[in-house]
Amino acid sequence: MARGLRCPDDRWAWVEIDLDAIHDNTVALKRLLDRGVQMMCVVKADAYGHGAVRCAKSMARAGADQFAVATVREGVELREAGIREPIAILSEPPLEAIQDIVDHNLAPAVYTQDFALSLGECAAAAGKVANYHLAVDTGMTRIGVNWRDVLELRRCIDFHRGIECAGTFTHFATADVLGDWDFEMQRRRFGEAVATLRDAGLDTGLVHCSNTPATIMHPEVHEDMCRVGIGLYGLHPAVETRRRVRLRPAMSVRGRITRVERPEVGTGVSYGLTYRVPKPNIQICTVPIGYADGLSRTLSGNMDVLVKGERCRQVGRICMDQFMFAVAVNNVRAYRPTQAVSQGDVVTVLGTDGNEMVSADDMAARRNTINYEVVCDFGLRLDKVYV
Ligand SMILES: *Cc1c(COP(=O)(O)O)cnc(C)c1O
Repeated sequence: MARGLRCPDDRWAWVEIDLDAIHDNTVALKRLLDRGVQMMCVVKADAYGHGAVRCAKSMARAGADQFAVATVREGVELREAGIREPIAILSEPPLEAIQDIVDHNLAPAVYTQDFALSLGECAAAAGKVANYHLAVDTGMTRIGVNWRDVLELRRCIDFHRGIECAGTFTHFATADVLGDWDFEMQRRRFGEAVATLRDAGLDTGLVHCSNTPATIMHPEVHEDMCRVGIGLYGLHPAVETRRRVRLRPAMSVRGRITRVERPEVGTGVSYGLTYRVPKPNIQICTVPIGYADGLSRTLSGNMDVLVKGERCRQVGRICMDQFMFAVAVNNVRAYRPTQAVSQGDVVTVLGTDGNEMVSADDMAARRNTINYEVVCDFGLRLDKVYV
């Protein structure tokens, strides 16, 4: 475990990001696109917890044409790190953020007249033309102008010389479900909206609607550009996408054992003492990773960690900054046989150690959530080490 040695100086816990995996996943996903179809890499939420700047640079080298973020601040961070590709903001921020958008040449989603015209005013005052992406609500009921009203909105804003439509997009609610009727309905509505704009002689910019599941499962909706997110990080949005493209998870979460005890039978562990040592020869080991680092407290007593290539049971409640796990020395029944461990040994919470693996999908299932949330959460506080 040579990689584990790259531990930050101030804490015995870290997130490892495999930038080669990010690069290779980007290439693998881009290969699914026809020539001429652009790839917009979604690096919102600090690249789903993986670190936006380093990931975006790897993706750019692997063929990303554009980037997308959720907030203005995320876009500014990329610009300040030297990212030159177009950067979209996936929803309308408050009017107060418009100056930053114009200063950093970000392209926000637009779906209200108020925002569009304020953007135009600000850009014009700076002697610029601001690009925007028209967001169309085709059935997700989240953001965007209703698909029936696209022409009306464009007619109210198109007079302004300070703005230019760089794209027209929608977002699917059920692209991860094969043969879904609602997906077909959204697709049809989006097609109608785009046709309405074109029939009126308006420039739609790049037409885009495919998230990762649509990019992998629905080549018929790639249009001019795909907006891929989760797949870049090596995770699959659905069971159905797994056999269609090979991806490699980029994130591992590791720590070192900070303390090892061999308590008497009956000794309690962690808040509430919900776990009590049931047999002799059980080591209770402490790792400095907790729910404030994104290791959900709902996993307490319901997850394994990997040490020396073996699975060990996490025991007791997960604390804010630490958790404990048990190592059964001498093959105690009901525990897997495990060698004794010592302070400083590397523990894998997410990722691979030897032949064993804990995946974001395993963890998501145990948490009753999706892999997206698992990796975003690990971006919270742990230092990232790029390998
Ligand atoms: C997050 C997001 C994406 C990326 O979705 P994935 O499922 O991660 O590929 C694409 N488009 C919009 C509008 C999003 O909010």
